[in-house]
Amino acid sequence: MSVIGYDLGNLSCYIAVARQGGIETIANEFSDRNTPCIVSLTSKERSIGSAAKTQIISNYKNTISNFKRLLGRPFDDPFVQNEMKDLPYKLSRTADGGVGVRVKYAGEDVEFSMAQVCGMLLTKLRSITEVNLKKPVQDCVLSVPSFFSEVQRRNLLAAARIANLNCLRLFNDTTAGKISTPCFPDPAYLLTFFQITKIFIIFFQITKLSIILPWLLKPKFKFHHMLSKNYVSNITYIMALAYGIYKQDLPAAEEKPRIIIFVDMGHSSLQVAAVAFNKGKLKVLATSFDPYLGGRDFDRLLFNHFADLFKDKYRIDVRTNKRAELRLLIECEKLKKQLSSNSGRMTLNIECLMDDKDVQGAMTSLNSCLCIYGWGLFNCYSFNHDYIIRTDFEALCAPLIQRVEKPLRTILQDAKLQSQDITSIEIVGGATRMPAVKSTIAEVFGMKVSTTLNADEAVARGCALQCAMLSPTFKVRDFTVIDCTPYSISLSWIAPMGEEGDMEIFPQFHPAPFSKMLSFYRKEPFALQARYTNAEQIHYPCQDIGKFCIDNVTPNQEGDGSKIKVKVRLNIHGLFSVIQASIVEKVCLYSNLLCTTQAPVDNQTPNPEPMGESTSPGDTENKENTNANNVKPSTEAAEKVEKKKVKVKSKDLPFHSQLYMNITEQEIQHMFEVENKMIMNDKLECETSEAKNLLEEYVYDMRGKLFDKYEGYTTEQDRTEFGKILEATEHWLYEDGEDEMKAVYVDKLAQLKQVGNPILRRYTEAQARPAAFEQLGGAL
Ligand code: ATP
Ligand code: MG
Repeated sequence: MSVIGYDLGNLSCYIAVARQGGIETIANEFSDRNTPCIVSLTSKERSIGSAAKTQIISNYKNTISNFKRLLGRPFDDPFVQNEMKDLPYKLSRTADGGVGVRVKYAGEDVEFSMAQVCGMLLTKLRSITEVNLKKPVQDCVLSVPSFFSEVQRRNLLAAARIANLNCLRLFNDTTAGKISTPCFPDPAYLLTFFQITKIFIIFFQITKLSIILPWLLKPKFKFHHMLSKNYVSNITYIMALAYGIYKQDLPAAEEKPRIIIFVDMGHSSLQVAAVAFNKGKLKVLATSFDPYLGGRDFDRLLFNHFADLFKDKYRIDVRTNKRAELRLLIECEKLKKQLSSNSGRMTLNIECLMDDKDVQGAMTSLNSCLCIYGWGLFNCYSFNHDYIIRTDFEALCAPLIQRVEKPLRTILQDAKLQSQDITSIEIVGGATRMPAVKSTIAEVFGMKVSTTLNADEAVARGCALQCAMLSPTFKVRDFTVIDCTPYSISLSWIAPMGEEGDMEIFPQFHPAPFSKMLSFYRKEPFALQARYTNAEQIHYPCQDIGKFCIDNVTPNQEGDGSKIKVKVRLNIHGLFSVIQASIVEKVCLYSNLLCTTQAPVDNQTPNPEPMGESTSPGDTENKENTNANNVKPSTEAAEKVEKKKVKVKSKDLPFHSQLYMNITEQEIQHMFEVENKMIMNDKLECETSEAKNLLEEYVYDMRGKLFDKYEGYTTEQDRTEFGKILEATEHWLYEDGEDEMKAVYVDKLAQLKQVGNPILRRYTEAQARPAAFEQLGGAL
């Protein structure tokens, strides 16, 4: 069974696989480890990933990008409405009020839900993995932004099922990143070191120092061996929870933990986590985020700057032309990256951007090295007369950079940390490459940021590692990962007297996964309403999670409320649910009678209380200890008398849930079937295009050779006639036969081969004849 981790970003995806030797990221069909999150649909087929990127401008109405952010959101969400203005494709409201996309596919106007689009991308990632591993894959761990709500998480899980993937865990981006922390030098660094050694050896070989060469070669092989060993062990470190499993110097369980801050700033969001490490365990203390701040906001700033500039300078308004807008946005992203790694003036040139006009703009930036030492620094120093112009980019981005600070300061507050408590700051995500972002992080925490993690691949690697831990096929040393819930969750209910009850079940940053047992006293079926406690905490327009109805509840023999135990769980994906409900009954042993538990004195105002649950060994989940206060003292005394004669029995009760914006099993099944049809269609299209290419190749090859090396093996008449057929086929391929079915191309090729094969046979025989004669002569 394969062990896979997928980092599903807003801009790009990475795939990591756990093999016996360690964790590796794998490349797609374009030998690129980065697969763009783009799905493009055409009148015949769909292209996904790198192939779709080429269509982002030419087929913009049917090319879907930046869609992760729309997953699981209601169409009326102000965020969606705002986002829609900048999207080149058309959004629609799905039947359940969610976000859909309207595109032209296979000659029809079709609507796909965002879960389906995500499913398409995951299908592609699965296919890349299968091609790479040469076997089918199913189990995986998927990355998820830590701020994703229930609905968004459920949509992502549905997308995985649409793509026929079995998601073992939705793993929060920052948690995934943190378990892939390398504690050895980066493999890339070791390889570079090896390459440098090789260059030295080649130098000595070239200078032909033959005397010392054997001596040099000896250490070379020794060194190589040593490096490759280190390389493997380093990857193993990453695989085996680098910061915990093999790292020997972590504080013991009872000692003060080592605190590391993880910052992930990607294309569309900024996420921060404070993590405490002890031997064999990591615990997420708190998370904070700005779900609306990422690299793309810097692109948009540059875009707005240049769009305004070109309006004045060239009298063109790129905002009125989608193609021009997209081209400028792409160039702005490139420029932003250049400004990150270069100082001074960078130019932006685009030919024929709009109305046949070539445009040019420039942006300046301070030296990136200077920025690393503090955002405040370059505000104090005037380096030369050009200063004002030179800080253009930084000045432009100042409002965004200020926003970076907020989640960083929040985490210190929420995790109750001081700078001196923190050991290091690990950064991942493409946007953390911006010097101003790095310097802000350094300034807030008062220490240099550490870039030991691979900014692009860390999350995928962490996911693969988590998958290895969850998979029975891999032996990974026990390591507990305790994540936390970013939002507090409450339950409310209607009490028997009609009054409302309300209780916070999981406060913010409560460890997860986690189960709790709640007790109620009820005479009849009842419902629990789950919701996020705080509207300000969540970055989602609705606080509702769902309603859980406990059925078949009956009063006890005395006609009072029966004791009902309800087990609620925050599961491994970060989803809340009721997982069990039971009625507690008492069996009177002396008379074999059934009698229900005594209700507490105040049973008319039931109050749910968390109860204990045992922990299974090796399980990463956490459960709360028994709450001793669960039984009221007065009731306890009354029960002690009975205890000798009464046995407590618990009987499961049926329950059902009505989740907010739920995707039903039937809907998932339907989308799975639609996806499978599209996969079959893609396969057929691919085979058709291969059949067409084969025919085209044959025509060109035969036409060239017919009047050249095959000339002596055909009559002039045959040659002329066959030449005419080949020419006609060529014309047909570009005209009537341009868009035919696979069978038509296959038939045409077979017909041509009927004529061509005898010629080829004669030629091959003639070529083989001298060698055959020679062999025969030798034998005689
Ligand atoms: P998200 O995590 O928000 O879902 P993602 O994982 O796809 O998105 P990343 O791949 O981590 O995002 O980062 C992509 C962002 O980083 C883009 O905005 C890209 O322009 C930016 N980026 C990448 N390299 C650089 C660089 N050298 N300088 C500045 N920005 C960069
Ligand atoms: Mg990311």
